[in-house]
Amino acid sequence: MSRIFNFSAGPATLPEAVLKQVQEDLLNWKGAGMGVMEMSHRDKEFMSIAQQAEKDLREVMGVPANYKVLFMQGGATAQFGIVPQNLLRGKTAADFVLTGDWGKKAIKEITKYGKGNVVATAEAEKFTHIPDVASWKLDPNAAYVHITTNETIHGVQFRDIPETNGVPLVADISSDFACRPMDLSKFGLVYGGAQKNIGPAGLTIVIVRDDLIGNVLPGTFGIHDYKQVADNESMLNTPATFSWYVCGLVFQWMKSEGGLAKIGERNERKAKALYDYIDSQDFYKNPVAKKDRSIMNVPFTLANPDVNDAEFLKGAKAAGLSGLKGHRAVGGMRASIYNAMPEAGVAALIDYMKEFARSKA
Ligand SMILES: *Cc1c(COP(=O)(O)O)cnc(C)c1O
Repeated sequence: MSRIFNFSAGPATLPEAVLKQVQEDLLNWKGAGMGVMEMSHRDKEFMSIAQQAEKDLREVMGVPANYKVLFMQGGATAQFGIVPQNLLRGKTAADFVLTGDWGKKAIKEITKYGKGNVVATAEAEKFTHIPDVASWKLDPNAAYVHITTNETIHGVQFRDIPETNGVPLVADISSDFACRPMDLSKFGLVYGGAQKNIGPAGLTIVIVRDDLIGNVLPGTFGIHDYKQVADNESMLNTPATFSWYVCGLVFQWMKSEGGLAKIGERNERKAKALYDYIDSQDFYKNPVAKKDRSIMNVPFTLANPDVNDAEFLKGAKAAGLSGLKGHRAVGGMRASIYNAMPEAGVAALIDYMKEFARSKA
């Protein structure tokens, strides 16, 4: 069977070159006589894989030297609680710019330790745009300001990094991790699960400025204390070794693709092709303000209520296009077009959308 185009929001499609390398290494990694899944995380083979992955990630994303890269578990969901445990640092509240459902979940978790103040939101408009920075009511005494750079469900994404006047900026970057160049020095901390844009599920990557760590709330588990994780090179306990290795291959693939500048350009082209098509006709709609549209997740609905989503999805599947069902919170369809989705996949989707619209005319 040939591979299909997988538009799933996550876990999501991976570069074919990476999967082939995994296949080649599976039984016997570089003559070690065993696969990576079977290696001790303390062995020098795995240590070299882990260190190389971090080196490549630092290079690809331009991580400044005074930032730690932590390889954790529990997904972004665990970080919703771990971030306040580490970053409240004697303060009682953080500011949140709420741009969708993932941000809501993050706020829910901070309330166990402090207060999450919503300083701006477009919830009343169903999260179809990002509130203008000038309208944000930031508290200069907040422990940090939290944003979700890309709200996966609603398809809204920050294009510019907001200025927070010295208050550390924290971002959930799960669904736009390394999708284009990003100035990490503007952030105190970013975090995200690997399974959208970086690799398989199981690994959560945290990039944090080193002056922010080492002052956790009492009662915080050691495994959730960024300082302890950093001091132990993310090996306080057994890390997600296989995911870590596959992510390492993805970082190498990113380098071979010309780095984030080139990958970002390709992502912009993919998104533009899809939005241009959606905007050129009346059969499909996307509700998001043009300036805030995500280049990673493109939700769309069928304008005619008599035409059924299930029929669209069934035909898509038959055409080799999977994972297009929208999130239950917004309905309709969603095309996730992460780094590993080739331009040919987006072209095939647009062809199918045209064909389906024609068949219903
Ligand atoms: C998927 C996603 C999450 C949840 O990630 P888990 O790894 O399942 O915990 C959180 N935030 C954003 C923006 C996401 O896209």
